[in-house]
Amino acid sequence: MLIGAHESTAGGLHEAFGRAVSDRAEAVQVFTKSNRMWAAKPILDEDAARFRVEGEKAGLLASCTVHASYLINLAADAGEGREKSIAALADELRRCSQLGLDKLVLHPGSHADSARGCESIGAGLAAALEEAGGDCRVLLETAAGQGNAIGRSFEELALMRATVPKKLRERVSFCLDTCHVFAAGYDLSTVDGYTQAMDAFDRVVGLKLIEAFHLNDSKKPLGCNVDRHEHPGKGCIGQGAFERLVNDERFAQVPGFLELPPEMNLGCLEEMRGWRSRTASKSAPSGKSGVARAKARG
Ligand SMILES: [Zn+2]
Repeated sequence: MLIGAHESTAGGLHEAFGRAVSDRAEAVQVFTKSNRMWAAKPILDEDAARFRVEGEKAGLLASCTVHASYLINLAADAGEGREKSIAALADELRRCSQLGLDKLVLHPGSHADSARGCESIGAGLAAALEEAGGDCRVLLETAAGQGNAIGRSFEELALMRATVPKKLRERVSFCLDTCHVFAAGYDLSTVDGYTQAMDAFDRVVGLKLIEAFHLNDSKKPLGCNVDRHEHPGKGCIGQGAFERLVNDERFAQVPGFLELPPEMNLGCLEEMRGWRSRTASKSAPSGKSGVARAKARG
């Protein structure tokens, strides 16, 4: 895993790279606009160019991942909220392309009826991907199952993607948040639980479709359906799960992001790098699937 962090873009989008370099992050996640507002100022071409140059210089452009606004709800029924959500997602996708980025993490949405919500999300994804064009992919993030949030089971993730028409489906992949899947009932805290959860993901969705991780521990117990992040290793999931993850060869080229207060990034990233190779993951096959996949993608 490329062990990285979410970084602030205060002072200019490119500033995230300087912060990531001082934190010694191996990958960086950013917002390209306020995550709690619909409107966003367009990105000036000169700012986009500077972002690309600084990102290349830091060696962090290729793995740089964007997190979309929290307001977008593709599960919404027809109406203003749905239209705004699709338009906002298309705009986020265009901003990514302008910045030379190809991965946008999205909270899929909320709906009381799971099946209907999944279908609406699939249709909304298709509309936004079609409208935006380009080649940026949407990484649907796993949900803790709080309220009516969709994405709490691997079956829901698979259904959302399957609803997207085939020609656009290759632009839909996933971001696995360790806190969210644990809160949703997948027990990553034990060796057996980790193996079972990853096997289930592979069977239902496909591990090769995981293009990012959010590295959060959970303040709350297994299956609580409550989303309360904790410093990795200090919560109910525990250090063992993160050791397995950073050593899992299937994810060797996949970025994982801390979502901590920024002043904690440096120390936590160093700690997590120290977990590499300390416990060989028993669940990881000896093949080099992660590396092969990264090469295939170019
Ligand atoms: Zn998220």
